[in-house]
Amino acid sequence: MKALIDYLKDIFFGLKTLWAGMRITGRYFISPGEIVTQKYPENRDQLIMFDRYKGEVIMPHDGNNQHRCTGCGICQMNCPNGSIEIVTRKEITPEGKEFRVIDKHIYHLDMCSFCALCVKTCPSNALAFGHDFENAVFDKAKLIKILNKPGSSILKDVK
Ligand code: SF4
Ligand code: SF4
Repeated sequence: MKALIDYLKDIFFGLKTLWAGMRITGRYFISPGEIVTQKYPENRDQLIMFDRYKGEVIMPHDGNNQHRCTGCGICQMNCPNGSIEIVTRKEITPEGKEFRVIDKHIYHLDMCSFCALCVKTCPSNALAFGHDFENAVFDKAKLIKILNKPGSSILKDVK
């Protein structure tokens, strides 16, 4: 008897959830003004992604081609699947003091799971998520990106 009651309960629950979904579908069906779907790629020029959308990891640069990356390597250490490689080089100040600068911040978009650990744990706030999502390529090598731009340097106020 208990099995029969459980069985009927399951059917009732299934119908209830089906009704909840169909009610929303029906509402949009009869109210075209509320349409939320977009015609992609026809709307590519006007397409605005949500701020929270994680398309790919990027390193923002300002108008003077300066970024905030110190080359500390914390993002590389925290990335759970080895999607980041940090290559640094030593430079010398006019006073003869050695300091480290980022040479290449290599990002493997093809391996990235968009977990955001690198962005959240960067002590200099040097990384962010970009909104670009059109990353279909025939050559996987094109998904390996150098995030620091050629000729860029670190902002003076970043330690
Ligand atoms: S992006 Fe941030 S965590 Fe990664 S090397 Fe640069 S400063 Fe360090
Ligand atoms: S988002 Fe996650 S998986 Fe992608 S590079 Fe950053 S830490 Fe690695």
